[in-house]
Amino acid sequence: MVREELSSKSISIVEVGPRDGFQNVRKEIPTGDKVKIIDLLSAAGLRSIEATSFTHPKWIPQLKDAAEVIRRITKPPGVVFSALIPNEKGLDRAIENGLEEVVFVVSASEALNRENFNKSTWESLAELSSIAEKARRNGVQLRGAIAASFGCPFEGSVSVERVIEVAEAFRNAGVSAVTLADTTGMAHPLQVKELLSVLLSQLSDLPIALHFHDTRRIGLVNVYSAWQAGAKIFESSIAGLGGCPYAPGAPGNVATESLVYMFHKMGVETGVNLDRLVECSQITQELVSDRRPDQGQG
Ligand SMILES: [Zn+2]
Repeated sequence: MVREELSSKSISIVEVGPRDGFQNVRKEIPTGDKVKIIDLLSAAGLRSIEATSFTHPKWIPQLKDAAEVIRRITKPPGVVFSALIPNEKGLDRAIENGLEEVVFVVSASEALNRENFNKSTWESLAELSSIAEKARRNGVQLRGAIAASFGCPFEGSVSVERVIEVAEAFRNAGVSAVTLADTTGMAHPLQVKELLSVLLSQLSDLPIALHFHDTRRIGLVNVYSAWQAGAKIFESSIAGLGGCPYAPGAPGNVATESLVYMFHKMGVETGVNLDRLVECSQITQELVSDRRPDQGQG
């Protein structure tokens, strides 16, 4: 997470392509290509990069080279590399590999939490305190992420109260920020505005990040709505990589280059060099391009 105070004319970006994107690419991406893309991302000015996930390869074989990726990437000063962790074992591996930041995901929807992690939302939150304590002892920053913040493919709508309950649990555990994830691309701009107005007033001390998927091609509209509501941290993916496991062929995350283009046009700084980013996006598309024909361009 970017640590300095953000002026009203700047936002910060968390690049999630190497984690959320790569895990959804069918083709096996060689480790060297992953390293190359991550190096291009940091060289383009991205300061927070979710580089991989320490999840058992049985669940996410695409990221089985997590440790090697972390070992081989260039680590310029001022760039924070993070990894997603599904449990304490994931945290142990992140610590062994010298990561500065980890992301622990809990779903606001009971059904999605069971589907993804094979336990209830509250069982996941019960693990949170020991994870937070161990992260603190080891000097690792912990970020929380709430999956299905804007709806669930199994349960349908997810209440604002439910999202706030989970966000409060994260805050009480001392996380540095909480990400509201629109895991399956169900959010719409008015919903984004309403949820943020409640969250930003009730949990004003907790930095909130937004993670929108472009499943229904309105991801960037949701970004704009969130920014207008006061949000300043956005997660996005180079070349719009990613996808939605419940909607095969759907586009992935909001593309980082589109997000940067939009904010720069509006006079909002991102710290990213757009030309270099676009070049990185083209190279990324070439490197991951022989995906199955039914996969969306994302
Ligand atoms: Zn995602």
